[in-house]
Amino acid sequence: MTEIGLKTKDEVLIPVRMLNEYRYCPRLAYMEFVDGEFVDNEHTVEGHRRHETVDVEKGKMPSPDELFGNMRARGVTLSSSEFRIISKLDIVDMGDDHVFPVEIKKGKGPEEGAWPADVVQIGAQIQILKDNGYECNEGYIYYSASNKKVKIEYNDDVLIELITAINGMQGIMNRELIPPPLRNSRKCEGCSLAVICLPDEINLLSERSDDEDIRCMYPARDDAHPLILQEQGSYLSKNGDMFTIKKRGQKIGEVRIFEISHVCLYGNAQISTQALSELLNRSIPVLYFSYGGWFKGYTYSLINKNVLLREKQFEVSRDMKRSLELSKEFIKGKIKNCRTMLRRNCNSECKAALNELGRSIKKIDRIKTMSSLLGVEGNAGRIYFGAFQKMMKNSLDQEFSFEGRNRRPPKTPVNALLSLSYSCLVKDLTVAALAIGLDPMEGFYHTSRYGRPALALDIMEEFRPIISDSVVITVINNEILSTEDFIFRGGACNLSSQGRKKFYAAYERRIGQKVKHPVFGYQVSYRRIMETQMRLVSRYLQGELERYIPFTTR
Ligand code: SF4
Repeated sequence: MTEIGLKTKDEVLIPVRMLNEYRYCPRLAYMEFVDGEFVDNEHTVEGHRRHETVDVEKGKMPSPDELFGNMRARGVTLSSSEFRIISKLDIVDMGDDHVFPVEIKKGKGPEEGAWPADVVQIGAQIQILKDNGYECNEGYIYYSASNKKVKIEYNDDVLIELITAINGMQGIMNRELIPPPLRNSRKCEGCSLAVICLPDEINLLSERSDDEDIRCMYPARDDAHPLILQEQGSYLSKNGDMFTIKKRGQKIGEVRIFEISHVCLYGNAQISTQALSELLNRSIPVLYFSYGGWFKGYTYSLINKNVLLREKQFEVSRDMKRSLELSKEFIKGKIKNCRTMLRRNCNSECKAALNELGRSIKKIDRIKTMSSLLGVEGNAGRIYFGAFQKMMKNSLDQEFSFEGRNRRPPKTPVNALLSLSYSCLVKDLTVAALAIGLDPMEGFYHTSRYGRPALALDIMEEFRPIISDSVVITVINNEILSTEDFIFRGGACNLSSQGRKKFYAAYERRIGQKVKHPVFGYQVSYRRIMETQMRLVSRYLQGELERYIPFTTR
């Protein structure tokens, strides 16, 4: 085997489907096989549908010396110990003394022949059949969309392609750094993992490309939305593909499960075991809050992907130098966005605050310790909240006066709104961290401690002003809320159930709002931007990006 260049064999059997992915794009194979990422798009969903018939094991597959007449077997799983590969063959057609595999593809083939990645896949299947003692020198690829069957002869060229792919796969399985994205490739436009890979964005930020035309390869908005149960005594249960919400036995709502991004339960809102189990199956997080909006915890399926990423996360969180580098970017982003808020809402009245915040940003680059950074952040917070009242149009009204930040419990309506808004943001960033495979509890700026989603709090810094504070200013200035929406009890102030409902709607509108991305240039919702920033942190941790760039707006 060494004459044809197969490298030392790894213990792991490589699925032949991964060799196809590797030939298509090594980064795609890495994300699927090493990181365990998978996302369906219209191509993969259609592919699964077409495969449902051939994946079913059907028909006999006699041993090589028992072959007789024409036969067909479907869904046959075989492996090659020599090549360390394994495959579930769609179809194996048999004659008296030979066999040949048929691979079903849902798409169109090229004008002539087959796509190179498909040739590798069918070559691997032929090799597996040979290694199991069958006479096999050719195979077929059937392209459903063009109704075309292409014959592939197993010659030296195919063998070399196969060995190159196996060696390449073994190479990426043993490396920590993800292969770089393809450059300006049309392959990315049909790739289901483009939303995770961010090919053009990563190429731009890692200076592998100076192409300014960044393609947005994911929907600008999410189709799925959070399901928020804050009605006290409400109960969520599963009914087929739907979730039903009841209160005192009466149905008060219904939602299709696939439309849910995550579930939030406030106070004594409840959920059935069947509903919880369905959410776990679909990797949809359930988040729990106190009635007052304090984020208490979450239930999520086993985090079984991106093990190496979490190792890196813990490694960097223990590396003071790299943690400080990241933290400086979080705080720089936060202060820049605080300035943006003041400039947008009360430019002429807060020149002094704007100047002071500008000086704080400049100081950050020279900071050498975490405690100095905390000092700069604390001071910037005092300056910003000192000018906060000026952003409210009805700032002279007693009801929404703001004399400074207080919490646990908040004592005034503005503080109650800020606390609730920050809690919503922590929740969304916790969900984003879980989806990527990061540990939301392990941070770089915020120290990790029991029950504290430190990573979510870190990334939240740059979004506090432009999302949380912005929603608070909007609901006050647009008179979406009035004093009647607040409850005052024992010196504490909280929103009423009705007030919360209005607030959550305003918050969802804000994060669903599309903005032009300042670096990538495309239109995208704030929710997507939060996910993307979390991904950029992960790429920094994995060493793909030298620097994390916070999201800032002008
Ligand atoms: S988006 Fe492009 S670079 Fe990224 S994995 Fe897919 S094909 Fe490869």
